[in-house]
Amino acid sequence: MEENKEALKELKEKLLLKRKNAYYNMSDEDIADCDKFCEDYKDFMDRSKIEREAVIYSIDLLEKNGFVEYKKGMKLKAGDKIYRNNRDKAILMAVIGKAPIEEGVRLCAAHIDSPRLDLKQNPLYEDNEIALFKTHYYGGIKKYQWTTIPLALHGVVVKADGTRVKVTIGEDENDPVFCVTDLLPHLATAQMQKPLAKGITGEQLNIIIGSRPFKDDEESGAVKLNIMNILYEKYGITEADFISSELEAVPAFKAKDIGFDRSMIGAYGHDDKVCAYTALRATVDCKDPVHTVVTVLTDKEETGSDGNTGLCSAYLEYFIADIAEELGSDGRTVLSASECLSADVNAAFDPTFPEVNERNNCAYINRGVVVTKYTGARGKSGTSDASAEFTGRVRRLMDEKKVIWQTGELGKVDEGGGGTVAAYIANLNVDTIDLGVPVLSMHAPYEIVSKIDTYMAYKAFIAFCED
Ligand code: MN
Ligand code: MN
Repeated sequence: MEENKEALKELKEKLLLKRKNAYYNMSDEDIADCDKFCEDYKDFMDRSKIEREAVIYSIDLLEKNGFVEYKKGMKLKAGDKIYRNNRDKAILMAVIGKAPIEEGVRLCAAHIDSPRLDLKQNPLYEDNEIALFKTHYYGGIKKYQWTTIPLALHGVVVKADGTRVKVTIGEDENDPVFCVTDLLPHLATAQMQKPLAKGITGEQLNIIIGSRPFKDDEESGAVKLNIMNILYEKYGITEADFISSELEAVPAFKAKDIGFDRSMIGAYGHDDKVCAYTALRATVDCKDPVHTVVTVLTDKEETGSDGNTGLCSAYLEYFIADIAEELGSDGRTVLSASECLSADVNAAFDPTFPEVNERNNCAYINRGVVVTKYTGARGKSGTSDASAEFTGRVRRLMDEKKVIWQTGELGKVDEGGGGTVAAYIANLNVDTIDLGVPVLSMHAPYEIVSKIDTYMAYKAFIAFCED
């Protein structure tokens, strides 16, 4: 009887897939390293709420670690570390490997834009002595979530003479913040009857920015004039300068530990800065890579990757071609031999909303980094669907390097769906698979990730870069 039990246990061990909390497979030392890494991540999050700030942070970290700005024609050799800034909104970086460049590069791709409220081109108006900004939301949001939370304003304004003014207001402890209002429940009878998607409309996402009039003017518009006067005194900008600006309203929250056990992190923009930061750090920290490592932190993923800072543009292809040519090869040869981890977040199983996921094929927080073979919607529409062979290769790599990982797809079949940049990179004839961190409340102003999963993403990128 006892023997039978033992044999059964062995058979289970050999044949069945095990899925459990990564915590059980980590030593105290691993957990300490993980928690330390996540402190750095939180600092990055507080400094990098928009893509431009993530680029500034990245350049600073890269230069401190010996990376230099790459200009076409620069001589390259194994061990060289370079970066290219694409219009201050996306960044490429590379560590030249020892292997011939024809063997391809190890490419990590993540995005540094997150859903938010952009100011319109003519944003400023006054209504009944309240000054407001009109906004146009960016990316997929549930609009009601963006009301009655503190908002900060980040971005740039290009003035009439071409000079550029950087704006960050609402992040410092002493800064004012801004806010979109919502109806009081007492008067929301009609609103509460509407479906959730229509409770707050796009044109209701107006941000309150002031209410005191300019003191020498009792005409209508005095509040607007007063705001413009404050902005002129602080930034030297006039109303017309908004036309050539990119100002983004983002949640003014700081990244914080979540839970009595501090096992999770709450922050704005984990999608996809959690993969961007872990890929950036892996590129900086990887030791003597065999193959050339290329990491791209891109813009515009949340709006479909179009535009010259999004991954449908040729900027990644050009960078790899420039490196390839410098090392005596060409872009298409190198791309065709390359492998890519398309680093983006996935939805984590939420016990409050279990009905949207199929429990055998979704990601869970604390079970490690999630490898996603295909994304898309309906009949896998819009996916690149990694091959069994490449999925097998990544699986072996993760196991060999002791990275704790899981698989998961985004929700039940026909429940919805979503895509990543994987398809655009795979379209360049690169073996590509999605890998990232599971997130709770994705695209909400305050998203949640697990510290262990974040750390495992970093370990996965290190394993890939050093392989
Ligand atoms: Mn994403
Ligand atoms: Mn997203």
